[in-house]
Amino acid sequence: MNFTRQLKYKCQWYGCDLVVVDRFFPSSKTCSNCGHVQDMPLNVRTYDCPDCGLSIDRDLNASINLRDAVGSTVNACG
Ligand SMILES: [Zn+2]
Repeated sequence: MNFTRQLKYKCQWYGCDLVVVDRFFPSSKTCSNCGHVQDMPLNVRTYDCPDCGLSIDRDLNASINLRDAVGSTVNACG
């Protein structure tokens, strides 16, 4: 049984999109500005991007990435 597929089916039935964010999505390792990925040890609190120069709190960076991953395709369900 594929739970995600069933959920997707139900969501389609009710006319909304289901977005499943991969739990291995590297939200804290990915630059929320340019998409650069780098290792982020837990003791590093600020994401400093060598590519675009972004310097941002790691949690803020991660939450922006998750928001963008979910994006504008989500509709309110029900
Ligand atoms: Zn960057």
